[in-house]
Amino acid sequence: MGQYTYGPVRSRRLGLSLGLDIVPMKTCSFDCVYCQLGGGHRPLIERREYVPSEEVLRQAGEEIRSSGEPDFVTLGGSGEPTLNTAFGDIARKIAAAYSLPVALLTNGSLLWMPEVREACRHMDLVIPSLDACDEETFKAINRPHPSLNLAKIIDGLSQLRETFEGLIWLEVFLIKGINDSDRHCLAFKKLIERIRPDKVHLNTAVRPPAEPSVRVPSRERMEQICDILGPKAEIITPRHKNAGPGANISGEDIINILRRRPCTAREIAETCGTTENEVAEKLHNMVSDEKIVEITGEGESFFKIP
Ligand code: SF4
Repeated sequence: MGQYTYGPVRSRRLGLSLGLDIVPMKTCSFDCVYCQLGGGHRPLIERREYVPSEEVLRQAGEEIRSSGEPDFVTLGGSGEPTLNTAFGDIARKIAAAYSLPVALLTNGSLLWMPEVREACRHMDLVIPSLDACDEETFKAINRPHPSLNLAKIIDGLSQLRETFEGLIWLEVFLIKGINDSDRHCLAFKKLIERIRPDKVHLNTAVRPPAEPSVRVPSRERMEQICDILGPKAEIITPRHKNAGPGANISGEDIINILRRRPCTAREIAETCGTTENEVAEKLHNMVSDEKIVEITGEGESFFKIP
């Protein structure tokens, strides 16, 4: 794996996907509360060629030759790829050299810029995210660069649909108590009618988010939301395995949550979308192994890293 490539990884949506990381870690126009890269970075909207395109292309070629042809080459990774002024050019050169489809994972924040929509022309698939229907929720979830506003972003998404001939899969990240009410869902429905994506993908946290306060809607609620949004909508968050709802939660996930602040078992369970019982058993084992310590407070115990 090169400095600017990751994978190929198998993904449910894209099949075998070779990722290209074309901006440095946490170079992003948002600072989302659910970001898995951790929070607290300063959002920026300065566009430039953040990494050497020729080296990205060289590493991509090397990976394709050694690992075999992926189903998709995906621009995404550890920040917002449209901040790189060369993202369209990189996609064009990949498509020309290897005849592979190229996907763009974007937070959609810069699609109001004509040059960004123009560069999207070289993609086969654009997966933009849209997590809010009103300015207040947008600021609360995405914590954007101060020059950005939701109306501008929605305009950009609608305009992309007017000119872009490839597929658009709109991704909505749901957070319990923030954007999962019926009111929000009906507003999302209207926006979807305006943006006209080919699909709508509903997602939520499966790994520790930037903010431990991010709570996960139940599977049942996500299914209700899917019904409200109509036939284009589908849930992409993996269904928990039969071993129990917390089967995906690792000790490392718990450590990542506790690195930010001490939490109760209930808070960890809500962050991970699992049951308190499942988390309690893992916490008990981690306390025995001295990886974390338990502090008994008034009524509830807290866990923290020693
Ligand atoms: S848009 Fe993506 S990379 Fe940027 S802060 Fe949000 S989750 Fe993190």
